[in-house]
Amino acid sequence: MMKKIFCLIAIVTVVRAGAQTNGSELKMDFEKYNPPSTLVVPEHKLTRAKFPFIDVHNHQFNMPDMDLEVLIKEMDRLNMKVMVNLSGQTGDRIKKSVANIKQNFPKRFIVFANVDFKGVGGDGWATKAATQLEEDVKNGANGLKIYKSLGFSVTDVNGKRVTVDDPRLDPVWKKAGELKIPVLIHTADPKSFWDPMDANNERWLELATHPNRKKEDNNPASWETLIEEQHRLFKKHPNTTFIAAHFGWYPNDLAKLGKLLDEMPNVVVEFGAIIAELGRQPRAAKQFFTKYQDRILFGKDSWVPDEYATYFRVLETEDEYFPYHKKYHAFWAMYGMGLPDDVLKKIYYKNAVRIIPGIDKSQFPN
Ligand SMILES: [Zn+2]
Repeated sequence: MMKKIFCLIAIVTVVRAGAQTNGSELKMDFEKYNPPSTLVVPEHKLTRAKFPFIDVHNHQFNMPDMDLEVLIKEMDRLNMKVMVNLSGQTGDRIKKSVANIKQNFPKRFIVFANVDFKGVGGDGWATKAATQLEEDVKNGANGLKIYKSLGFSVTDVNGKRVTVDDPRLDPVWKKAGELKIPVLIHTADPKSFWDPMDANNERWLELATHPNRKKEDNNPASWETLIEEQHRLFKKHPNTTFIAAHFGWYPNDLAKLGKLLDEMPNVVVEFGAIIAELGRQPRAAKQFFTKYQDRILFGKDSWVPDEYATYFRVLETEDEYFPYHKKYHAFWAMYGMGLPDDVLKKIYYKNAVRIIPGIDKSQFPN
């Protein structure tokens, strides 16, 4: 008798499930499965930073001609006091960007120069590049930004890959040190881009939606090779300050990143595009931010003003299990670190003011 009743219940359950889901929903797309959380906990959604802040990792490619008023409105809404535009380019473009800034909002923007890597290995390339950097700084640039193309795609006059620590580039790093400007450098990409693209890869969705991001050990080089090249560069130029972009691609291994910072006092980091890594380890991240509070800068990278909300919430609140804004970076939820004010002030502006010349301090609280 009991057996018969169980059997009947099982059949009814199957029939009801079939009726509700129409059969087709029993298997679901990973991208589609995105259920709103049913968790009820205190929420502190932030649209504005607690303190005025400096975004050290921003890209505005058309600064010579753009209407800066449009940017300022968005910046004011976020409480972003200074935007560092890493895409200042070089030569005339820098002059025009600086002119636009000076005429309109002289305290609100900083421009970094870029190096033209065409012709590495050719006669006098390094001297020319170092002289150009000096010129760009004279014209108002306050730092140098190196894109990930160095390591990935930059080749010398013989068509060979130029390594990040190629000695032929040394005069440029040396010059940056002499000029006392920081070098913000992005090398490689998340390690997962080199890993097999399968069910064990945390960035599977990003690789599926952006297939050109997939890398192989021999194309252009292994992740470890590129990262080691970057560290050799840092160690070889102790008098130059380097800002390792994206936490040096160790945001998912903060113990390792801490060791690297201990070894290399001339290096600081910024957290552009990696807040999702910090938001999944709020306790470890808070410890890291406490220990290395003088070595971390606020960076975001892509200019999507609404996405800053996630950054503020992870840094400032103790909220639990709230959504991240881009599933291909993180299919997991965020937790806040709840950093104290003295640490927040360093991350938001004090460290950047110390490291990047030309920022007007009077815009920030003590
Ligand atoms: Zn960038």
